[in-house]
Amino acid sequence: MRIPMIDLQRQYAHMKADVDARIEECLRSQHWILGPQVSELEERIAAYLGSKFCIATSSGTEALVIGMRALSLARQGRDYWGDGDEIVTVPFTFAATADTIVRSGARPVFVDIERESFSIDLSKLAACLAARPRVRALVPVHLYGRPADMTGIAELARRHGVAVVEDAAQAFGAVSAGRRCASIGDLGALSFFPTKNLGAFGDAGMIVTDDPELARISRDLTKHGGRDKYDVSQIGYNARMDTLQAAILLARLAYVEDFNARRRRIAAAYRAQLSSLAGLSLPGGDEGHVYNQFTVRVADGRRSALQAHLAGKGIASTVYYPKCLHRMKAFQERAVVWEECPEALRAADEVLSLPIEPLLSDGEIAEVGEAVRSFFQ
Ligand SMILES: *Cc1c(COP(=O)(O)O)cnc(C)c1O
Repeated sequence: MRIPMIDLQRQYAHMKADVDARIEECLRSQHWILGPQVSELEERIAAYLGSKFCIATSSGTEALVIGMRALSLARQGRDYWGDGDEIVTVPFTFAATADTIVRSGARPVFVDIERESFSIDLSKLAACLAARPRVRALVPVHLYGRPADMTGIAELARRHGVAVVEDAAQAFGAVSAGRRCASIGDLGALSFFPTKNLGAFGDAGMIVTDDPELARISRDLTKHGGRDKYDVSQIGYNARMDTLQAAILLARLAYVEDFNARRRRIAAAYRAQLSSLAGLSLPGGDEGHVYNQFTVRVADGRRSALQAHLAGKGIASTVYYPKCLHRMKAFQERAVVWEECPEALRAADEVLSLPIEPLLSDGEIAEVGEAVRSFFQ
């Protein structure tokens, strides 16, 4: 595609000198596991988020499963959830949000999303929590980089005595109620998958918490389950972040604020060009959104026609996500659906994400907007 969803080569060219210098530092030291770059990155991100502890991991998925197991160890002294323990999340997200619930021993309970925000519907969540006493934790997802309503979620969590694990994989830098996403719940999980707002050159992630006990347990679990890997106390993981990825992330971290601002500028340009087209809905322009995706909704079953129209002009577009988790085989017998999830199903039929490469030129942004307009006019 002439205009791709994201252009990692363009990004690399933009920051090559900084990234190369950091990589060379690793090549000279040959310190590949838990090198000084890993703790430097943990400290820098903790400072950026305003949180007490960050634990670097091998991926966002491992950050989620380790965070949920750390909660079970800290709150009930058991290394896995079990015996009917439930963890609530949404069915309109990436599979890792819920497969990690299963891997932590709990049963996922899917609660529908709200049409406008794509995040968990608070009134349905309230009803679910009132009816299901075995719920132990909530996993809100800041989908597309748009912060979920953490004030409302924290309030319900407090009332029902359940923990909150933020899936902030798509929301590095996003702000909800004055705080950075991932630093608000009991725990937060970040992903540095290459297409996320802060991306590595491979897989990487991070656990974020203010709780020293959750931090200590999480760190042990990333290293086989013990402070001493030759004498482990839990069944853990080999889930450390590579020194090389930490080094690359340190270089890229310096650009993330500028890139998030560019994403917001692209979103504002699209919004100006695409408002008031019949059959197209635009994402809300809430503050604190970092636009990992700019996701529109296309009504009346015209989504694939719009995609083909854009592709014909060399413009990429992607459906995140075409299938809800509660319709996937992996979750069919392992999850519970709270009532029904009509909004999630409808979103899966209607959403379409447009290119939001931070380094798109003004001309390219206008071209995407014009191509979408020409479909609806
Ligand atoms: C990317 C992503 C994850 C998983 O992160 P990885 O680093 O790819 O393991 C989890 N949840 C959501 C919502 C994601 O977008």
